[in-house]
Amino acid sequence: MAENRGLFTLDAAQAYLAAEPEMTTEKLADRLFTVSDGQVRTIFLEGNSSVIAFDTFGTPGRARAYGKAIGEAIPDKRIGTVIYSHDHLDHSGFAADLAPDADVIADEMCAKVIRLRQAEGQLQPTRVLNGERHELTIDGVDLVLLNPGPTHGSGNLAAYFGAEKIFFSSDTVLANARYGFMPDYHFCNFIAYMRGFLALDWDCFVPGRFELTDRAGFERGVDFIEAVMTECQNAFVNFVPIWAYEPMKGYCIGQLAERFGDLEGFEGHVGQMAIRIVHHYLMGGWGLEDTPEPRVLMAGHISL
Ligand SMILES: [Zn+2]
Repeated sequence: MAENRGLFTLDAAQAYLAAEPEMTTEKLADRLFTVSDGQVRTIFLEGNSSVIAFDTFGTPGRARAYGKAIGEAIPDKRIGTVIYSHDHLDHSGFAADLAPDADVIADEMCAKVIRLRQAEGQLQPTRVLNGERHELTIDGVDLVLLNPGPTHGSGNLAAYFGAEKIFFSSDTVLANARYGFMPDYHFCNFIAYMRGFLALDWDCFVPGRFELTDRAGFERGVDFIEAVMTECQNAFVNFVPIWAYEPMKGYCIGQLAERFGDLEGFEGHVGQMAIRIVHHYLMGGWGLEDTPEPRVLMAGHISL
């Protein structure tokens, strides 16, 4: 059977799209679980009569493996709701394979990008949210969904569970340096929005990939990205050839190793991070998302 392809055009991609990895599930609180394929991570919740799943993982095979992991943790309840953390296919590309009949909730920006993208397997949201904070009750589960503004991807929704003191924000901050490739980060307001999440009362942070961390790990992750942003500006001041990988890597390691060299993945990723971030200062960012007032983004131009 041919798999949904996302944006792949090669038939040879079928083997990649079909592979079903091992998933690791952990219960974080009553009704709340986290699951990872070793790379990407997300959360799901047990409702009164159904499951509320954040995201889908990034291939049809991974979506099926996610569905099986949910079924093992919560037997006999269908996935009634899928919430997209953001538009990226590696997180939310395959609801068609996870739960084709589920209600799909997403931020308006995310929904607009999905409407235009037309990736095979990425279902259009059935319920669109617009604004910074949403308090929802879905099948007996209380949820707070937050989007302070462009952070990563389009329409990034974080989830805050106040009673459990747990916070989930996909592809934004890690407690390590293993996310070096940052094409769709919106640096203009990123640090301020991330620090804003620290005003909430939580102890456990669930990132969109790799391992869980605590408040200190989250703060250090934000500090690290901010420090790379600072050194990328200093690279201009010091006439480092900012377009070249090796000089930028060497410069950033020299400036940051003492403070952040212990972060897992530091030497392997900081050069790549720096190449991306210097272009924020060189070129002005990622379009409208990287303006001080990004709320005008695509306003009124795309009908859902
Ligand atoms: Zn992403």
